[in-house]
Order: sequence, then C-alpha cells, then structure tokens
Amino acid sequence: MTQDVNLTGKLKHYFGFDKFKGNQEAIIRNLLAGHDTFVLMPTGGGKSLCYQLPALIMEGTAIVISPLIALMKNQVDVINGISEEDGVAHYLNSSLKKAEVDQVRADIVSGHTKLLYVAPESLNKEENIAFLRSVKISFYAIDEAHCISEWGHDFRPEYRKIRHAIDAIGVAPVIALTATATDKVRTDIVRSLGIEDCVEFKSSFNRPNLYYEVRAKKSDDDTDRQIIKFIKQHAGKSGIIYCLSRKKVEELAAVLQANDIKAAPYHAGLDSETRSRTQDDFLMEELDVIVATIAFGMGIDKPDVRFVIHYDIPKSLEGYYQETGRAGRDGEEGLCIVFYSKKDLNKLEKFMEGKPVAEQDIGRQLLQETEAYAESSVCRRKMLLHYFGEDYPKDNCGMCDNCLHPKKKIEGQKQLLMVLQA
Ligand code: ADP
Ligand code: MG
Repeated sequence: MTQDVNLTGKLKHYFGFDKFKGNQEAIIRNLLAGHDTFVLMPTGGGKSLCYQLPALIMEGTAIVISPLIALMKNQVDVINGISEEDGVAHYLNSSLKKAEVDQVRADIVSGHTKLLYVAPESLNKEENIAFLRSVKISFYAIDEAHCISEWGHDFRPEYRKIRHAIDAIGVAPVIALTATATDKVRTDIVRSLGIEDCVEFKSSFNRPNLYYEVRAKKSDDDTDRQIIKFIKQHAGKSGIIYCLSRKKVEELAAVLQANDIKAAPYHAGLDSETRSRTQDDFLMEELDVIVATIAFGMGIDKPDVRFVIHYDIPKSLEGYYQETGRAGRDGEEGLCIVFYSKKDLNKLEKFMEGKPVAEQDIGRQLLQETEAYAESSVCRRKMLLHYFGEDYPKDNCGMCDNCLHPKKKIEGQKQLLMVLQA
C-alpha cells in the first residue's frame, strides 16, 4: 500500500467524518506500511476505526478478534450499514447456524468480505484455521487486547492462544488495541502476541470532564440514603451504579424503585432477554439508573451517562478507571463517586483465600493500589494517570474531591484565618 493514499478522502467516503481523531491517521499509516502496531487509547477514543478503515482499503480480509458476541454484532451492523453492498463485514462465532457459516465462507472466498470478526474460541477451532489458511488475510486486529493479561480487568484464557492461531493461519501484520495501559498489561500483550518490535501509539488517558470523589462508607443504609439524595439532585439524568454482588444489585434496585427512581437491576444471573431489555430501556431513556455488576457496560456507547457510582470498592484501579470511563463520553459532565470502607476491602481479601496462590498475589497487589487511591489526599486524577504511567503536570486538577476540598489545607487556611484575625 502506497504512503500517499488519500486517507482523509477514504475517511469521508466510508465514515462521513471530516478528520481523524487523535493519532488515528498515524496508526493507520503504520499498519498500511505493514508494521505490527500497538494502540493504547482510552475508551471512546476511536480505536475501531484504526482497523476498520485499513481493512476496507486493503486487499484481502482482516481478521478482527473481539471478546463479546454483542460487540461483534453491533460493529458488523455498523460497517454493513455504511457500505453499499452486503457482506463487507461478517462475524464468526458459536451463535451462527451451519447455513450461516457457509454464507460467511462463500463471501470471504469471493473476496467480498473485508472484515471478519471472530471470537478467540472460534479462531482456535481446527476447521476455521483450515478454512482461513486458504484465503488472503490483510492483517489481524486484536481488540480489547488486555484480555490476554491476568493483570488486566477482564482476563480470557483463549486470548493466550491467538499467536498460535495466527502462525497456523498465515502470518500478516498484527494490530493490538486496548484502553488498558498499565505496564504489566502492555508487556503481557506484546509478549503473548509475539510483537515485541511493534510500533506503539499511546494517547493520554486523562478525561478532563470526569469528576472523581471518594466517600466514606459508614453503613449500607447510610450509603443508600446518600445515593437516593444524589439521584434526586440529578433527576432525569442517566447513571450507572456498580455493586460487587448480584444480591446487592437486586436490593439496591428495589430500594431505588421504592423511592420512585426509574431504576433496574442488571447482572449475569438474569436471563438474556431481561438483560437486553434493560439495556435497551436505558439507551432509550425509559430508565434513568442501572444498578449493575461489572457484567454491564463493556462496549456500551451511551454518550450522556452523567454519573457512575461504585457502591463497593472495586477490585482494581484498572477496573475502576474503565467503569468510570462510561460517564461523560460526550465530553460533558461525568460524576464518578466511589464508596470506600476498610471493611469492604477486608471482605475482598477474604474472597481471595480459596484461589490459586499466583492469582491471590495478583489480586492482593491490585487491591492495595485501590486502597492507596481511596486513602490518599493527593489529586485523584494525578493518581489514576500515574497508575497508567502518565505524568499529570498539574498539582491541582480542580475536578476531584481532594483538589476541591483539600483536607489538610482547609485546616491550614483556618489557622491562617485565625492568625490574621488575631
Ligand atoms: P473505542 O473503541 O476507542 O472506545 P470507538 O471506536 O467505539 O471507541 O469510537 C468511539 C466513537 O468515536 C464512535 O461513536 C465513533 O463513531 C467515533 N469516531 C471515531 N473516529 C472518529 C472520527 N475520526 N471523527 C468523528 N468521530 C469518530
Ligand atoms: Mg472499542
């Protein structure tokens, strides 16, 4: 692929956008030049386009590995919607019937299909490997690449076998994308995929429109009251409340409903019909608040979520950053509040006791980082960004509890005032 291809023209032609966001263009050019590419970009940054556009203009079919069936379906619908012909994008996963799989294969063989979304489980299947070996692959895109790492917030063992599948199908450039930017996760991804020599593109993870606050959790009743008060103060606004257990999700949703708040529960124990109805109602604004376990949210693109509350301390800062990242995707206000108690922390540590030792070690370390965040009086944004290896240049962000209400400094000011008045 030549370097002088008019990418802005292609962007306009396929997606209707006038310009690239952030470093999308540099990323795409790097991939077109045949280099392995690693993209670290926060949620909402526009990662999908970094592989969708090159796939549409390159010869052959791009294999996109993505963890969730719902995510795949959504992206395939979008791509087919922007193209004049059908079958430009397809997905291959366990939800397809035999006849559907045959159709997908026929479209790929005819050279029609530019993007093939595959779940890692399907990619590793012998029959799929045998088939894909016979077609031209433009490149491999690994979306949500942090699923490779136990240090990420959503480890999936099947992701570890991707390199093996690529070697079996036929080598082509690899682009790995994630919104998880800790050093440990990064190293894991690069090693597991065998792309140590890749070119890396890292965007800032700062979300200037998000406000961060940690509140002390005294009791569940008190927390319920604070949450109800908060929601009433933000009446009609959309929000997500995360709880660690399904039981708490059910209980809190009931409490909110009893207080005339349009809320519903969401967790993996509910049947898929109920879950997808709840999700649709939230997107259509029939519901204001979703009370959920972390099963809710990945890939959900509701731009105007105005608050994300964590009822319990999350298991890792990584997860916390991703979950709060669902607020304010439109760049407007996003309030992120977490309730913290030492008791909850101890409970989480206890949960880990039955697990394999290596897993316990990782779990404890992640938990310690969360604890440090919750107990610190340093700017929350500075801490979060530091966690992602990024240096926040200011000492006061003006958009977190510690910066707006510095504990020690208030006392200092009081003393100063007393001195001045004396
Ligand atoms: P990510 O996967 O990084 O979370 P997405 O790929 O889902 O982000 O993109 C987030 C949003 O940004 C989508 O609504 C997408 O259409 C939009 N977007 C992506 N690139 C551009 C662009 N160049 N101009 C305008 N909007 C864009
Ligand atoms: Mg994405």
